[in-house]
Amino acid sequence: MSIRPTESSAHSSNLSGDDAAPIRHDWTREQITALFDLPFDDLLYRAHTVQRRYHAGRGLQISQLLSIKTGGCPEDCGYCSQSVHAETDLKAIALMSVDAVLQAAAQAKAAGVQRFCMGAAWRSPRERDLERVCAMVEGVKALGLETCVTLGMLTDAQAQRLADSGLDYYNHNIDTSPEYYPSVITTRTLQERLDTLEHVRNAGLKVCCGGIVGMGESREDRVGMLQTLANLPAHPESVPVNSLMRIEGTRLAHERDVDGLEFVRTIAVARIVMPASVIRLSAGREHMSDELQALCLFAGAGSVFIGEKLLTTSNPAPHQDRELIDRLGATSQESAPIQWIAKSRQ
Ligand code: SF4
Repeated sequence: MSIRPTESSAHSSNLSGDDAAPIRHDWTREQITALFDLPFDDLLYRAHTVQRRYHAGRGLQISQLLSIKTGGCPEDCGYCSQSVHAETDLKAIALMSVDAVLQAAAQAKAAGVQRFCMGAAWRSPRERDLERVCAMVEGVKALGLETCVTLGMLTDAQAQRLADSGLDYYNHNIDTSPEYYPSVITTRTLQERLDTLEHVRNAGLKVCCGGIVGMGESREDRVGMLQTLANLPAHPESVPVNSLMRIEGTRLAHERDVDGLEFVRTIAVARIVMPASVIRLSAGREHMSDELQALCLFAGAGSVFIGEKLLTTSNPAPHQDRELIDRLGATSQESAPIQWIAKSRQ
């Protein structure tokens, strides 16, 4: 079935009616493929129109991600330097103290960050570690920041414990399509990931869930990934779209770059199939030109991570991000110019 525009189609390129970009959970592969296949201009026009309709005046959401427990992870995600299966010289670091995390969060807030994300390299958290993470969440919330954690698989009870601590978002990515998934990771099934997402939703937490582009997958896989996300019972509030950071010693270190315009198409299609979600331009910005990043924002990305590191991989230098955001005239979530309070300190 095609969704190529017709005058009468609810998916017409003329997005003037309320039905033109409905929130749907029944996307077919053919429909999503047809979006990818649109002429670039048409796709961007449609995606940006959805962005204006659902996110008018919302400004750029700015997050920072801290690795609170690094390395030694038993999972075998082929892209990750923190896996014990990767041959990298990454030094494992035990779970940080609450005080050290709160210090980092306070610095992030001073640098204009709105959401503070904390990641731990676990298959799933142990109970006593979870208690410490909950104390971190409470402390970060008290600083006036939104909170997100990514800790691996959760039970219902663990998700509830995190919700009780005041956590806003839980991140757990599906990474890629169901078909390509076993080429990326074998120690945890996609269904296990979906089960964790269900526990997170049941606990009333907001969901951050997306994937990675450039792992050797085909466009069909990118279609499959977006279909899986868009047909979840509720769309993730936050959808990170990462460009693979190739790390020597990981299984996917030598995958070929995905064409920048194909990356923009992936962002644009994500924008259209999950209209109300915030699409996050996540890992890989370091290797993108300013112009490519600007195109991703125009295509529907509404959030970036700032700070020198994204867990263990590098990110653009803070001054580069400040300059780019200022040059683009981007506003903060409150529609005000972004205040770089700590400019002189970074
Ligand atoms: S991506 Fe997460 S779960 Fe996978 S190996 Fe890395 S730290 Fe472990």
